[in-house]
Amino acid sequence: MGLQKTYFLLSLLFLSLTVRAQKEIPVLCYHQVRDWNAGDSKSAKAYIVPVERFRQHMKMLRDSGYHVILPDQLLRYLSGGTSLPSKPILITFDDGTDSQYMNALPELQKYQFGATFFIMTVTLDRPRYLSRKQVKELSDKGHVIGCHTWDHHNVTGYKADDWNTQLTKPTMLLEQITGTQVKYFAYPFGAWDTRAISELKKHKYLAAFQLTGKKNTLSPLFTIRRLIASGYWSAKELDAAIKKTFK
Ligand SMILES: [Zn+2]
Repeated sequence: MGLQKTYFLLSLLFLSLTVRAQKEIPVLCYHQVRDWNAGDSKSAKAYIVPVERFRQHMKMLRDSGYHVILPDQLLRYLSGGTSLPSKPILITFDDGTDSQYMNALPELQKYQFGATFFIMTVTLDRPRYLSRKQVKELSDKGHVIGCHTWDHHNVTGYKADDWNTQLTKPTMLLEQITGTQVKYFAYPFGAWDTRAISELKKHKYLAAFQLTGKKNTLSPLFTIRRLIASGYWSAKELDAAIKKTFK
């Protein structure tokens, strides 16, 4: 065997060992953080975490020794660079309701937890949704603003101009509002396909988040898995679900 080939095989082996040694880092996904009301259906309540329960979730993360990190840190780790603090975890919010600003933000600030907010731009400034001003404030406070399309259509059904409507324009708008580059995307309904990944790469996205679907070994950075933190779960149940999902 030639020396060059030996080096090549050794580096492949090293790469596969490095990849295998990487742990899957837990990522939580929240939607609304508010108390349930009579109109909330049984299934909707999984996506609505009552305020006191959210407080307990955050307290549990701190008391159980989790260290909340941001996507940039996750990316550096996944790209084979830096190490992470013990028990790293990410907190993300989808759909941009104002409950995230009113009820979740004070709790995040209490523990100095940084979070990522995936915004669909069609709802900006609408009643019950985040305003442009709130999005800017979240970004200025060090939270990360990511894109969640224009109006939440499933990316797997897009035709030619849909990418302009659902990705190009929302990205530009969010960058204009925050004054920073938008680097992270969350798939509506967690659904993705390879075409969506190549569009995201074309738009200079660095990573994208799904829900608890299958891992994709070919594009791990564009299929990062997230666990929906259910409105039904106590802090203890959330902790158990994190351990079960991200082994
Ligand atoms: Zn969504």
